[in-house]
Amino acid sequence: MPKKLSAKDLEAFKAILTRARAAISGDMSQLQEEALGSGHSPGGETNPGDTSDGYYQEFNLELLQRDEQTLGEIIEALDRIDNGTFGNCENCQKPILKERLKAVPHARYCIECQRKLEREGF
Ligand SMILES: [Zn+2]
Repeated sequence: MPKKLSAKDLEAFKAILTRARAAISGDMSQLQEEALGSGHSPGGETNPGDTSDGYYQEFNLELLQRDEQTLGEIIEALDRIDNGTFGNCENCQKPILKERLKAVPHARYCIECQRKLEREGF
């Protein structure tokens, strides 16, 4: 059984998703502000830059499909972080593996359900 995500994990995924949303919606100014470290995240909390974990930085924005559907899924994932359901499969409610979330932070389903849905022509 995969472990539940820690607050630190959620914070890191939120940062990734926020950047991904900015990249897809074409809001490059936000990306640049964050790069300079002067950007304020929505919600008002300050970001002392403790995401230097390195390991989450591997997420490559270039691999994102830049389309409306992906943007919608990213926005929904950010909503799920806010309401505490992020990281759970929407189909079977089990936690999604962290490895999978690192590759696809806006994933809605665990790998088993995703495969099943794809087989069924989802
Ligand atoms: Zn599932």
